[in-house]
Amino acid sequence: MCALIDELPQAYLERMHLFLGDEFESFLATYQQKSLAGLRVNTLKISPDEFHRITPFQLQGLEWCPSGFVVHGDGRPGKHPYHAAGLYYLQEPSAMAVVEVLDPQPGEKVLDLAAAPGGKATHIAARLQGRGILVANEIHPGRVRELAQNLERCGARNAIILNETPQRLADYFGAYFDRVLLDAPCSGEGMFRRSKLARQEWSEEAVHSCAIRQKGLLPQAARLVRPGGRLVYSTCTFSVEENEEVIWSFLKEHPEFELIERTNRFPFADAWGDDSDNPLKGKGIYRILPHQHVGEGHFIAGLHRITGGEWREIPPYRPKTLSNRDSQRVKQLMEDICTFPFDPLRLSIEGDAVYFIPPSATQLSGLRVHRPGWWIGTLKKDRFVPAHSLALGLPIANLHKYLSFPAEHPQILAYLHGESFGPDPFPANLMDGWLVVCVDGFPLGLGKLSKGVLKNAYPHGLRWIG
Ligand code: SAM
Repeated sequence: MCALIDELPQAYLERMHLFLGDEFESFLATYQQKSLAGLRVNTLKISPDEFHRITPFQLQGLEWCPSGFVVHGDGRPGKHPYHAAGLYYLQEPSAMAVVEVLDPQPGEKVLDLAAAPGGKATHIAARLQGRGILVANEIHPGRVRELAQNLERCGARNAIILNETPQRLADYFGAYFDRVLLDAPCSGEGMFRRSKLARQEWSEEAVHSCAIRQKGLLPQAARLVRPGGRLVYSTCTFSVEENEEVIWSFLKEHPEFELIERTNRFPFADAWGDDSDNPLKGKGIYRILPHQHVGEGHFIAGLHRITGGEWREIPPYRPKTLSNRDSQRVKQLMEDICTFPFDPLRLSIEGDAVYFIPPSATQLSGLRVHRPGWWIGTLKKDRFVPAHSLALGLPIANLHKYLSFPAEHPQILAYLHGESFGPDPFPANLMDGWLVVCVDGFPLGLGKLSKGVLKNAYPHGLRWIG
């Protein structure tokens, strides 16, 4: 037996044995296998086919997610310029099934209630294809920043990022969203293979207190779903208390919801529990188990609001208009760098930051807002400084001032390390000022050209070290 199995809590093993029965030994054997990395191609920037043509990694497709792959071999996908350019998100393979069950459609209003660090939120953004709105919420202030960084890297231009409690969101929005995801905080049994901390922190009391919290969160998430809308509850844990029991106690109290139909698209196990007259069986509950499918394991339940819901009239977001002088500065710089059709009426100034507000955004009065839209830059005393997220949100087709190098080019590595280039023979027609640095035609960040030297504006916190 390997050391990892010895570290698994005895009470956890007994519980798993009870539910898995004959399958327990093969489940246990997965703790002796290496967990495989997953990579989801960001279809906001590149199609899976195109990515296949340029990828240096050995990829194997996932049955349940058309943009999802397992990465084999020794590559380091987290340390590749394509990652920095947001061409993919590194995500555990079973986690990629969650948004596939949520099934957001372009143009819809979608809420991710517990979104940091952003695995599922970036997946939702990709599925929306820039149309409609994604509200990504995270309760912990310290985790919102990472969520924003990931959404920005992936080029999500129609995301609003909030730092609120589920209750305050439900009180504010009511039954507003077409789809709501509650990827609930849980005891993390599915993380045991990867995380020593998860193994150490587990206890039966922790399972119990997580279940109490989840039973409180799911009804708040449900309040946010419009009639006919979809609610998905997911965890990365196996315990029945945090999964089937949460769904069962919710459905008993909320007859206005039902489980969605099960579909063959998802080849996963059914709900656990007694087979006789179990109302959760044969419906839209999926258990992804590591001895049956690649990945660490997830629980996913899809629910549908049949009726009801508290309706609120929420006025559209009213952008805080820029002064004529500031508006001119922004316009001038934008026109220098890109051809993106910025509607000046959708620009809003919040403090000194300038945002592009997505067309279907609502007013957010009284809510803790981290980003009301796409952050495009900051107004300093006498100038407008473009934001990193502006560059990452633009396709090369919208740029007319850029430098692009192949992924292996030493200047790409130098750029990611925060170095300045030059003096170098830059193209003669390149004027001094801001431009976008690209890897193989995909924006990586900004630089400022001045007298033959490109000053590096790659954000300090993102720079590669070593
Ligand atoms: N969906 C994320 C992703 O795919 O990257 C992972 C979410 S993680 C499983 C659960 C999140 O719930 C954490 O970010 C945590 O901060 C948040 N959380 C913890 N307690 C919460 C509470 N009482 N209400 C809402 N969210 C909470």
